[in-house]
Amino acid sequence: MTRITVAKGDGIGPEIMDATLKIIIAAGAELEIDEIEVGEKVYLSGNTSGIASESWDIIRRNKVFLKAPITTPQGGGYKSLNVTTRKFLGLYSNVRPCMSLHPFVETKHPKMDIVIIRENEEDLYAGIEHQQTDEVVQCLKLISRPGCEKIVRYAFEYAKVYGRKKVTCFTKDNIMKQTDGLFHQVFDEIGLEYPEIENEHWIVDIGAAKMADTPEIFDVIVTLNLYGDILSDIAAQIAGSVGLAGSANIGEECAMFEAIHGSAPRRADQNLANPSGLLEGAVMMLNHIGQTEIAEKVQNAWLKTIEDGIHTYDIYKEGISKEKVGTKEFAQAVIANLGKNPSQLKQVSYAKDAVLNLPKYAKKPAKNKELVGIDLFIHWNGTDPNELAEKIKTIGTENKHLTMITNRGIKVWPDGFNETYCTDHWRCRFKPTHGKLIEKSQIITLLSNALDAKIDVIKTENLYDFDGKAGYSLGQGQ
Ligand code: NAD
Repeated sequence: MTRITVAKGDGIGPEIMDATLKIIIAAGAELEIDEIEVGEKVYLSGNTSGIASESWDIIRRNKVFLKAPITTPQGGGYKSLNVTTRKFLGLYSNVRPCMSLHPFVETKHPKMDIVIIRENEEDLYAGIEHQQTDEVVQCLKLISRPGCEKIVRYAFEYAKVYGRKKVTCFTKDNIMKQTDGLFHQVFDEIGLEYPEIENEHWIVDIGAAKMADTPEIFDVIVTLNLYGDILSDIAAQIAGSVGLAGSANIGEECAMFEAIHGSAPRRADQNLANPSGLLEGAVMMLNHIGQTEIAEKVQNAWLKTIEDGIHTYDIYKEGISKEKVGTKEFAQAVIANLGKNPSQLKQVSYAKDAVLNLPKYAKKPAKNKELVGIDLFIHWNGTDPNELAEKIKTIGTENKHLTMITNRGIKVWPDGFNETYCTDHWRCRFKPTHGKLIEKSQIITLLSNALDAKIDVIKTENLYDFDGKAGYSLGQGQ
């Protein structure tokens, strides 16, 4: 018996949750259920996070959370409950299987059967944003080695346990050599530990194009948060319908399972909604808590129901479907099919007692970190980089001098192009004049000189070598 937390959500949420629970309980799922209220009512009662603190206690105690979609009220000030839940509970891995149900659900990609594993906590989603000058705002992209190792290992373990043959990594490391580069490097390192699973890397732009065009060449895809967010919606849509896909959010302690779609308020309370997305989330939950046989039974009965042509309005198609049904009737049809298997769609068979082996991140020994330069970011309204260079040179000392100025990453001094458009946001790189290293105290001298010269420094970045390897990028064109 596993104790889980359930939230019925808003809009079509309560109907699809009732249908889902009926099906899995009829299949023999051994669950004790604590129900909590989240979403619209909680938001509108004045709680901007959409969830009461007692509900957090229940979620944290039970560790497994099945959540129906919720409505985030219009207007500012309401925080997304999904984002908060993922971050608070450390749900680092978002898993979305996207499989075509051809020829029973219309799709341009009859052979598609992929799983997108998206890093869920890092990247541009840390939400660390600052306006720095009149013209420029910044969003920090944070990528960590523990974050990369956890998600990449999750992808390989998932592939191993679910009998997948290949893991493909998508990054943009030809441009972002440090951040995406780290993700790719960790992928290569961990891939070596799984020689039985093929691994490959694609640059995300062409990879995404290929996925939209020929998804059947991919199996498991692992990628960073932003790319994964976009790709997983595309994948679900081209597989057939967003109403059919479920999603798992997995952390070291807790996990949350849901449908990928929203609360579809216009369809609520009419017995219309397709419960398949949430049911697919529940199947992942049953696998997660080790009730593998029940998961298998539910999945095969669901596939058989789709194959029987018993369809809700969203996937109903004259000539393909046999019977248009409501939420409740669909659930009854799946229950009637429990114990039966599909004959044309691929029957599932989940490995028994298969647990993903996910050791906690072990801290690595500290590297030798050497300060080898400093970037000063400057707010300056002029347009001629040579003029700025003359001004900035004056704040250098005998130990460090100006080596480069960039504007939005592109080198504009020395030897810039007149054609390069310059904003009011300049990065001035200082390097040691003698030797390789800079003392930290020299940064203060530099800043103090800048203050005296009335130069508006808006931030600094230290340039480090780690074990002799540059931990910063060159200027574009440098
Ligand atoms: P939506 O996913 O609710 O609906 C998009 C379209 O898909 C609609 O035409 C809808 O009728 C249809 N649809 C979705 N699920 C369906 C189902 N199970 N069966 C049949 N048809 C289905 O997206 P939206 O309209 O942009 O958002 C509505 C609300 O949902 C918003 O308040 C949004 O914030 C919220 N939302 C919540 C979640 C979540 O809780 N995980 C995710 C996305 C959106």
